[in-house]
Amino acid sequence: MIKHGFNNEIDELKSIINDGAGVIASIEKQQREETGIPKLKVGYNKVFGYYIEVTNSYRDLVPETYIRKQTLTNCERYITQQLKDLEGKILGAKDRSIALEYEVFCNVRETVSQQSERIQKTGKALAMLDVISSLAETAVNNNYVCPQINSDGIIDIKDGRHPVVEALLNGAPFVPNDTLLDLGENRCAVITGPNMAGKSTYMRQIALIVLMAQIGSFVPAKYANIGIVDAVFTRVGASDDLATGQSTFMVEMNEVAAILKNATKNSLIILDEIGRGTSTFDGMSIARAVLEYTCKKKTLGAKSLFATHYHELTAMEGMTDGVKNYSIAVKKRGDDITFLRRIVRGGADESFGIEVAKLAGVPDAVVKRAKVILKELEKNKIEIEFKAENAVEEEEEDIQYNFSANGKNEILEILRATDVNTLTPIEAMQTLYDLKKKAEEL
Ligand code: ADP
Repeated sequence: MIKHGFNNEIDELKSIINDGAGVIASIEKQQREETGIPKLKVGYNKVFGYYIEVTNSYRDLVPETYIRKQTLTNCERYITQQLKDLEGKILGAKDRSIALEYEVFCNVRETVSQQSERIQKTGKALAMLDVISSLAETAVNNNYVCPQINSDGIIDIKDGRHPVVEALLNGAPFVPNDTLLDLGENRCAVITGPNMAGKSTYMRQIALIVLMAQIGSFVPAKYANIGIVDAVFTRVGASDDLATGQSTFMVEMNEVAAILKNATKNSLIILDEIGRGTSTFDGMSIARAVLEYTCKKKTLGAKSLFATHYHELTAMEGMTDGVKNYSIAVKKRGDDITFLRRIVRGGADESFGIEVAKLAGVPDAVVKRAKVILKELEKNKIEIEFKAENAVEEEEEDIQYNFSANGKNEILEILRATDVNTLTPIEAMQTLYDLKKKAEEL
């Protein structure tokens, strides 16, 4: 337990334990020099422990302090007080060392505990210093700016960057983008653009900038004025929860449900391609209903960013107040596309899915075939755009949003968990009664 150099006695005991033979050798050498007996030997036996052996020819040189213990044919064996002490030390060294180490440890612990408050305060101060100096160093190294903070709900960022993606680009230029969100005309940004264009990066960078500003950090931008939010809610990426038997879509919907229930108008909501886990019509309907719910002042009216590949949702601008379309610019030359990573006003008009597949290395034959199929489909295009005239009208704004899907799930859960074979008739009646009551509440 105790480091070398802290306590002399412990060090000595340890050297005796670890180096008993060395100590004996040094005594032997010392005794030879003192007595002038060149063949003096130190040995050990079980009967009287350590002894000094002197051959008969040197018997006259033996000092008076030697105590004779045994006489053999050609030599005598002696002990001395020093040897006895050493023996005691070697044999007791282990026990003594354990006891002494514990004693020293307890003393140290006692001393530390008397100062515990001071040590904890110092620890906290160091931790704070660590956080602040790390943020400061990052800010200087990466050209961050000190954000302004407002309580008007406005998020205004000029040339914002994603701190992590930027660092991972290995010197390749990161394309900065502006952001304007507020509680009025610019509540909801619907962002369209092909896969890989940079939609997720853009939305995450806004969430990160807001978070960084609120923890007191500088932010990766040229200018930032950040309205305090009460929470940042995100639904991004697809994480399966197969272990608990939840499909990707179920996970996604659970998260969306949690966001809609817990967000307030002062929250920032980031939804990345919700509804993609189910059929087009289902997905688009869910996406649109969620967008309406988040955006409309009567329901949530929160600031939100909504990346989607359902271009039909861009029809919401002008129809629902507060919605603005954005897209990520892409340059097309022949069959090839270049991502410009620049966010611009207006919806994207093409998805470039096949071009992105080609970029990703899908074989030419498959890419060509996909193009033929796409042409066929476009010929027989089913009109699924939201026309203004069949859009959800204002009176529908009064729809009471309830979460009846949850109720249905609950009923199913109860049914699944019920073991009919073990129910008593009374319990069966009670269960049925409860289920009916739940069904009526839907
Ligand atoms: P999407 O969500 O549209 O599919 P991502 O946001 O995942 O696209 O972006 C794909 C990749 O493009 C990122 O991993 C990053 O390497 C690059 N990228 C995204 N935004 C930028 C940007 N502003 N500047 C430079 N590279 C970017």
